[in-house]
Amino acid sequence: MGTPRNPRTLLAQLGHYLDDTTGAVSPPLHLSTTFARDQNYDLIGSYAYSREGHPSQNILEKILAELEGGSDALVFGAGLAAMHCLLDTVPHGSHVLAPRVMYHGGQDWLRRLKSKGRIALSLFDQTDPMAVGAGILPGETDLVWIETPINPTLTVLDIAAVAEAAHNSGAVLVVDGTLAPALTTRALDHGADIVFHSASKYLNGHSDLLGGALITRVRDKRWTEIQTVRTLTGGILDPFSSWLALRGLRTFALRFGAACENALRFAQRIQGHPGVAQVHYPGLPDHPNHEIARKQMQGGFGAMVSVCVAGDAETAKRVAARTRVFLPATSLGGVESLIEHRRSVEGPNSVVDPTLLRLSIGIEDVNDLIADFEQALKESSK
Ligand SMILES: *Cc1c(COP(=O)(O)O)cnc(C)c1O
Repeated sequence: MGTPRNPRTLLAQLGHYLDDTTGAVSPPLHLSTTFARDQNYDLIGSYAYSREGHPSQNILEKILAELEGGSDALVFGAGLAAMHCLLDTVPHGSHVLAPRVMYHGGQDWLRRLKSKGRIALSLFDQTDPMAVGAGILPGETDLVWIETPINPTLTVLDIAAVAEAAHNSGAVLVVDGTLAPALTTRALDHGADIVFHSASKYLNGHSDLLGGALITRVRDKRWTEIQTVRTLTGGILDPFSSWLALRGLRTFALRFGAACENALRFAQRIQGHPGVAQVHYPGLPDHPNHEIARKQMQGGFGAMVSVCVAGDAETAKRVAARTRVFLPATSLGGVESLIEHRRSVEGPNSVVDPTLLRLSIGIEDVNDLIADFEQALKESSK
């Protein structure tokens, strides 16, 4: 992993993984799917065929492993492709524990595996700190999956406490840290075994690629298996997307820092507005998990803010349709601010409050964001 570096230095320089043949300062993009052999029929480099790995993906993985303080990283063609490869390692019929409210696509996937008899699944109440421990079945639970902060309620879970409960029963803990990347929470330092990211979000930051990442504390048997499943299913991140992710990472610290600052100011200003019933943001002192957030999110409280508007689902949808600076679109983590009516996006299974609007705060001028949201609230209450 080389000399320890401040993450800002690591990211700005991309670890100086210079191209040996040219000295190029920006990493090269190798589109080749296959790699030649020499006169002894030995591979010239360390690559053979790009489904097994390729140079751009490899640089990205080294940077992510160092950023998270892990021993290895693997990237995938989407966050859910990473989840697929990970869940493939759960022994047939073993128990998985996950929160009742979590990224809905991930939960759909878990429910599907359960409905096919592939895994046993239970969902715990993420608002009850005792519920995880009670939900773990010693000797049966193979994997505990958590997310923090939880999308879209922004509940913050205490990673260290969950890790202890999981480890006491012989289960591994996987943390979806998409909303709290390593710049604010290094989940492995808090006891997670594997950290998951949708690289489609903050890691890339420009809403122009789909990608996923897993970073592990130890390279064990499960890790090797994940790598094998990725190779066999072709779930890799293609060279151009890997290159784009590397480009996005160079400004990650600046982008994330600015977005967190904007989010805090936005949440503080919007709270108390007559058109707003509740603001969910871990950085607000009255957030139910503010103390855990202060301990666990040392580089900012993230840039997602959920707002429950005064009124009903229709009021919320009107607000989302009337913003002009916030774009009404799903996803998060880009430099541009997005707004969505989460319940409409999640569909009939959704347990999300019908008045909830999920805001992904970007790096625009925060006063423009505040004024835009306020005018949309005003327009919608008419
Ligand atoms: C987007 C997202 C995912 C899924 O990632 P994809 O890259 O869309 O496959 C998983 N977890 C969270 C918290 C997300 O926001």
